[in-house]
Amino acid sequence: MTIAPVRGMKDVLPPESARWKALESEYIAYAGRFGFREIRTPIVEKTELFARAVGETTDIVEKEMYSFTDRSGENLTMRPEGTAPVVRALLGNRFALGEWPVRLAYTGPMFRHERPQKGRLRQFHQLGAELFGTDSPYADAEMLAFLYGFLKEIGLSGVSLEINSLGDPACRPAYNERLSDFLASREGLLCDDCRRRRVRNPLRVLDCKAERCVQATADAPSVLESLCDECRAHFESVETVLAEIGVPFARNPRMVRGLDYYRRTTFEFVIPGMGAQNTVAAGGRYDGLAEMVGGKERVPAIGFAVGVERLLMLLGEGGDGAPAADVFLVTSGAKFLREAFRWKMELIGKGIRAEMDYEGRSVKAQFRRADRSGAAAVVVFGEDEDARGMVVFRDMAGGKQEEVSRDEAMRRLAGLK
Ligand code: ATP
Ligand code: MG
Repeated sequence: MTIAPVRGMKDVLPPESARWKALESEYIAYAGRFGFREIRTPIVEKTELFARAVGETTDIVEKEMYSFTDRSGENLTMRPEGTAPVVRALLGNRFALGEWPVRLAYTGPMFRHERPQKGRLRQFHQLGAELFGTDSPYADAEMLAFLYGFLKEIGLSGVSLEINSLGDPACRPAYNERLSDFLASREGLLCDDCRRRRVRNPLRVLDCKAERCVQATADAPSVLESLCDECRAHFESVETVLAEIGVPFARNPRMVRGLDYYRRTTFEFVIPGMGAQNTVAAGGRYDGLAEMVGGKERVPAIGFAVGVERLLMLLGEGGDGAPAADVFLVTSGAKFLREAFRWKMELIGKGIRAEMDYEGRSVKAQFRRADRSGAAAVVVFGEDEDARGMVVFRDMAGGKQEEVSRDEAMRRLAGLK
């Protein structure tokens, strides 16, 4: 009898594995544009780290962790999320990581013993990033612009950004109380889990995916109405900056996230119509976490994680997660190969993904490839134009095509980056 994989855990086979690899490296490269450097933390941590950071009364810690005692009696856990390990690594290597702000990005597997279903696994993978050392609203806007830009860059459409603020230790307790009172009045309508959560961690009730709880809490008091002046000003600044840089968003005062460490800004990128698995990326600010795991100083921070399986599912079967080229160089005969190849190397040297055909395919066939490659522009080296010292430049999105000098074509291509 063959041995099956563990329930909720999957092999990644080729050609799917190539999409994973491409996605992960594109992510790290994109993060690099914002100054994020990659960190790789161990997959196993001391259980205490997650108990303290994620919160004793969260679903993750209460019932989803893969915990075990190793041969020397240590209580260990396969990481259910990436932020707490990165914070631990930051605190332990403070000087090696340089001055504030510190920007770290990661990719890798996470483990949660949830009920497996479409878009919900027991080993799943995340792309994540953490920005430490500033509580400026610009940092929040940067993270959201980063995530928004990345999702757009890899071709994900139809996602919408929802944001909220959970307040801070100055104003959250008052909100918790208001929410508790409200939930007490709905007690009979809640699921069993939420009846417990109501007392121990009322905010968690708003995160329950059970339909009855969603309905019972439809008119729960809004956390945004309970914010203190500082938190309100912070939240409004984040909104102003986002509007200024053209990142569309909507407020969602019900979004509380499943981890206890969040403070102030929280956010999710959601796909309408995906049911309970509709969140493709999520995150928030966690200014108190460093102290919760034993750090001596307060380290304001904000981070996010993208679910790789959900992202690839949304991108669909076909694509490889990224367009293959920015420009396709079409040659109308073998005599143009040398020049086109020189262009290709020069463009790649400038950071522009250039592609061409080496096999002498027809111009029509080359155009078909150009289409599939996702290239934004095509340059055609043709006989007639060449006689006039020109090339044809085609803007693939607009479909506009014109004859231009070689210098002008190169100048436009340089702008594709
Ligand atoms: P959800 O609300 O869907 O349970 P979450 O709040 O538990 O998500 P986070 O811990 O913030 O999610 O993780 C960030 C992202 O990781 C999610 O938006 C999702 O895309 C992905 N993710 C979380 N849990 C799983 C899982 N069990 N299987 C696959 N992807 C997951
Ligand atoms: Mg969850």
